[in-house]
Amino acid sequence: MSLRFKVIENAIARKAIPVETPEGDPSEYFGIHVFNNEKMLKYLSKTCYDALCGTIYNGTPLDRATADGVADGMRRWAMEMGVTHYTHWFQPLTGGTAEKHDSFIELDGKGGVIEEFSGKLLIQQEPDASSFPNGGIRNTFEARGYSAWDPTSPAFIVDDTLCIPTIFISYTGEALDYKVPLLKAVDALDKAATAVCRYFDSSVNKVYSYLGWEQEYFLVDDGLYAARPDLVLTGRTLMGHESAKNQQLEDHYFGSIPTRVAAFMRDLEFECLKLGIPVKTRHNEVAPNQFEVAPVYEEINLANDHNVLLMTIMKKVARRHSFRVLLHEKPFKGINGSGKHNNWSMGTDTGVNLLSPGKTEMEKLQFVTFLVNVMMAVWKHNGLLKASIMNATNAHRLGANEAPPAIISIFLGSQISKVLDDIEKLGAKDALHMGPKQAIKLSVSHIPELLMDNTDRNRTSPFAFTGNRFEFRAVGSSANCAGAMIALNAAVAEQLQLFKVEVDKKIASGMTVEDAVFTIVRGYIGECKAIHFDGNGYSDEWKVEAAARGLDCETSVPLVFDKLVAEDTIQMYACTGVMNEKELHARAEVELETYTKKIQIEARVLGDMAMNHIIPVAMRYQDMLLGRIEKVNRLFNGRSESMVAYDVKLAEKMAEHMLQIDELTEKMIDARKVANKIVSEREKAIAYHDTVAIYLDKIRYHIDKLELIVDNELWPLPKYRELVFTR
Ligand code: ADP
Ligand code: MG
Repeated sequence: MSLRFKVIENAIARKAIPVETPEGDPSEYFGIHVFNNEKMLKYLSKTCYDALCGTIYNGTPLDRATADGVADGMRRWAMEMGVTHYTHWFQPLTGGTAEKHDSFIELDGKGGVIEEFSGKLLIQQEPDASSFPNGGIRNTFEARGYSAWDPTSPAFIVDDTLCIPTIFISYTGEALDYKVPLLKAVDALDKAATAVCRYFDSSVNKVYSYLGWEQEYFLVDDGLYAARPDLVLTGRTLMGHESAKNQQLEDHYFGSIPTRVAAFMRDLEFECLKLGIPVKTRHNEVAPNQFEVAPVYEEINLANDHNVLLMTIMKKVARRHSFRVLLHEKPFKGINGSGKHNNWSMGTDTGVNLLSPGKTEMEKLQFVTFLVNVMMAVWKHNGLLKASIMNATNAHRLGANEAPPAIISIFLGSQISKVLDDIEKLGAKDALHMGPKQAIKLSVSHIPELLMDNTDRNRTSPFAFTGNRFEFRAVGSSANCAGAMIALNAAVAEQLQLFKVEVDKKIASGMTVEDAVFTIVRGYIGECKAIHFDGNGYSDEWKVEAAARGLDCETSVPLVFDKLVAEDTIQMYACTGVMNEKELHARAEVELETYTKKIQIEARVLGDMAMNHIIPVAMRYQDMLLGRIEKVNRLFNGRSESMVAYDVKLAEKMAEHMLQIDELTEKMIDARKVANKIVSEREKAIAYHDTVAIYLDKIRYHIDKLELIVDNELWPLPKYRELVFTR
């Protein structure tokens, strides 16, 4: 029996494994693996606890004694939990997480060891930075990198290790990770938004930004996965003819969850809850074997740590259930890809969601103010926001006919659209004539308090207003959400800064606060109209219209990255203090390099598989055909043409496909050789995009044709129908 049939048989025979049933209710085990407030109270002295809270909530610098106290408390708690090691846990630009595990053991100077964990080790470490992407930052300076504790995200336990969330910076202070700019962007937004909130309520002291992610993923049986070198090496299938049935019937979405998958989900949720990740929702997605998990939203930094942690935990739990989890944005051609919707909102320390239409006139004006400023920010930086979610893998999803298009626009829905239209239509004269109070009343007073209208949802929009938050849907399933959240928070912060300057100018010239706010907001509505689009984002007409509106319509990944270092981007990150020019160039360099490497790997894997898996099997089948032709000719002595006509035709067809595969593969290798010689990362990535990547689909076409011809018994790779329907 061929390997393919063996792995299918194994996959079918697998039963759901019993999941260690959690004792008690979720509320009892939620966060038992987290050094949360409850543990802080138990394991820290009162002085130490108070000092740490000061650091967490007010950013007070931490003194050495407190750090020592916290480290010791963490160690005692962790050791009671059976933990032996600790690690600084950080998020380098590779996209995953990095850890280096050390044990608590220290020499006691008397020939023995003691368990110890000092404040010094908690606060800062010096991991070897040379093996992480840095975009050239380190080449010019010392090859050192520092990880430093982020006290705002609690330490947690995974297996026998205490994990301490940290930032990762270079010797000269540049960010080498996602966390540093994210924390700075969150801070910039807090400052800018708080200043604007004070027009409406002087008691506001802080504005939080929130993230609720929805993680989509595929599950594939372990054995089937192992029999697909392309999945193993690139995360996606580089070949495979479409299954006769896939998602046409839409019978998977919200259908009942298969038993083996349900066991996996239960297990995953249990692990997440113990780690304090508040997972809440689970369901099937549109494509067969595609699922989603979503938590309750949290402050961005914590929510993002939780998502990064979830991705690691998912992979681990999946193995226990003989599954592999695919986080790639497009593992299967012709089947829906996976995204990670980023639900985003801002809220004050007085408990007001700034994107939720309020009750009073002033609250409503505040809501419209924040809504319109977000629109302005997204409009001005639509190209950058696209660059923040673009990469080699997500590019398969954007622009395809089932995912957000590669153009950023905002969906508002009919109610909000009407509100903005009304405000705009009130001529400036009318507004002044009536007085701002009346004008506000007229235009915004009919916004209902709660706008959770599910019928008014547009699934084709990459950035949709959904009642009390925006949903950035173009983010890829494998991405670190921070990429998108840094750009969004910083862009909105910059916009709010500008807004405040303009409003203050009007106030200085004698206008009332409400009048000034209203006048500027009204002007903005007209100005950023181009970004507002409630129509079908998948249509071809939209592409034409978006270009006419001046929105960024670039689709080539390396060229999209140009926005990462464009003049207005540099300016925006500088005025918000989130990243300097050097850091931006370094990040762009890393993105380009990663893009090139991914395409390079795909090209190599496809070439190898074509020549080592596909052509030899096709030849074997062709050989069978030729043998038959020969046999018939021998037996019937030339009177047999019609008997072998079909065999001849098939053998010829196969030869044609094989020739094409060989020729195209040669050409792809040549294109790679040329591209590899290019020194500039940008030019190299462009060459990979324009001259190498184009062969992937061309070669695949002929392989997929052969899959339809070659005897099913001989085909070596699990087919699409087997990959997505076996569970
Ligand atoms: P959907 O219908 O889009 O699947 P859900 O109700 O499942 O929406 O919510 C999706 C995510 O949005 C969840 O993580 C949820 O916690 C989050 N969310 C809800 N309200 C907010 C908010 N105000 N800010 C940020 N995220 C939110
Ligand atoms: Mg959603």
